[in-house]
Amino acid sequence: MSYVNDILAQIAEKNASEPEFIQAVTEVLESLRPVIERNEEAYRRDALLERLTTPERCLLFRVPWVDDQGQVHVNNGYRVQFNSAIGPYKGGLRFHPSVNLSVIKFLGFEQTFKNSLTGLPIGGGKGGSDFDPKGKSDREIMAFCQSFMTELQKYIGANTDVPAGDIGVGAREIGYLYGQYKRIRDVYEGVLTGKGLSYGGSLARKQATGYGLLYFTQELLRCNGKALEGKILAVSGAGNVATYAIEKAWQLGAKPVTCSDSTGWIYDPDGIDVETLKQVKEVKRARLTEYAKARPNAVYHEGKGVWSTPCDVALPCATQNELHLEDAKMLAANGCFAVCEGANMPTTLEATKYLQEHGILFCPGKAANAGGVATSALEMTQNSERLSWTFEEVDQKLQGIMVNIFHNVDDAAKEYGMAGNYVAGANIAGFLKVVDAMTAQGIV
Ligand code: NDP
Repeated sequence: MSYVNDILAQIAEKNASEPEFIQAVTEVLESLRPVIERNEEAYRRDALLERLTTPERCLLFRVPWVDDQGQVHVNNGYRVQFNSAIGPYKGGLRFHPSVNLSVIKFLGFEQTFKNSLTGLPIGGGKGGSDFDPKGKSDREIMAFCQSFMTELQKYIGANTDVPAGDIGVGAREIGYLYGQYKRIRDVYEGVLTGKGLSYGGSLARKQATGYGLLYFTQELLRCNGKALEGKILAVSGAGNVATYAIEKAWQLGAKPVTCSDSTGWIYDPDGIDVETLKQVKEVKRARLTEYAKARPNAVYHEGKGVWSTPCDVALPCATQNELHLEDAKMLAANGCFAVCEGANMPTTLEATKYLQEHGILFCPGKAANAGGVATSALEMTQNSERLSWTFEEVDQKLQGIMVNIFHNVDDAAKEYGMAGNYVAGANIAGFLKVVDAMTAQGIV
């Protein structure tokens, strides 16, 4: 059996209860076959794939906290430190009831390649909790964050592991987490990114993932003889990534007409109004039904269905496995010609395959949404320098990084005879750098 097949079989056996992790490893290793086959003997001797797919460390801890009624609750806390070959572990914290070890391992694995693609010195990690921030008071959120950090602080540091936000972890949570870290460790250092501007945050970090996604998409289209200007976009999600993707889409001359949350989705024929969206989601933390009330032409649909909207470009920006085979078929039938992932692994393997086979330009999240972590790395640099750059400076660097990522991905795909296969290109480009560093550092 080939080395890739051996490893996939082992992964499936050893991680039988972790479907998301198996899915992510399968997607990556399948597309790396041509690279691995060229070096099969050496990689097998060094157990390279076993080391690459086994996290350096997985932490699972108890997070007890007290609600406003005095009731004690216990959640699971996770931090998976996946790979530190090219820099300190870096990756977000997710607070959502769907979080489990499989989800955090898949995200940490993907993060390793994404961080490598940015060209910046950051390794891969991810963490979070099955805590549900929805409906909690500020005090309850603070109590949870403090308890979570009381344990996590033992394992992180500005040169060791630098978490950031993700689903359910925004500016408020990062503030509480940072305060508790500083209180216990008594050091003022850039241990988290996504911080507030008054205590070491970077301008443009909040916008970076969404803006970066659009810079990437613009370059993808340009290099395929198309323009972003004038195009209709279907966007899912209504959180950090979706909101700033929508904002940048307008700025670049496109028209985003949808957004969604975990209960339903909006079609706005006039285009999604960013200020209304921010008011509903960032300020009021309300449902999208509130958006529909504020915009007379907008239609709210309960449940799923955002991909049934005719569009030129689709940007899934909510969560994993939100774009299924039937959605891919609908997008293709409705004339969509590009899908760029703002979220992590939002497209199922079957849907990805369908899109690629039907000539739709498909870009995986690890390349298209890398602007967030890249700007987090820029925040780390500013913290080390004890300087703050202007918005324009950070934004300009972000643009350069995203354009660069696109070309690295594109070139890697071409070099291995798979021009236009951006999944393979992203995996290959990310993989080669990590493997080079791992090999140089010996068997560790
Ligand atoms: P937010 O929490 O700000 O927003 C997430 C959005 O997705 C919300 O609208 C939420 O709905 C919706 N959502 C979450 N879970 C589900 C679900 N199970 N079904 C349907 N909708 C859901 O998160 P972000 O915008 O930060 O993250 C979105 C995606 O982008 C994630 O995959 C994340 O890993 C990825 N990402 C984020 C980066 C960042 O910098 N923030 C960087 C790179 C990737 P509701 O409002 O109802 O909760």
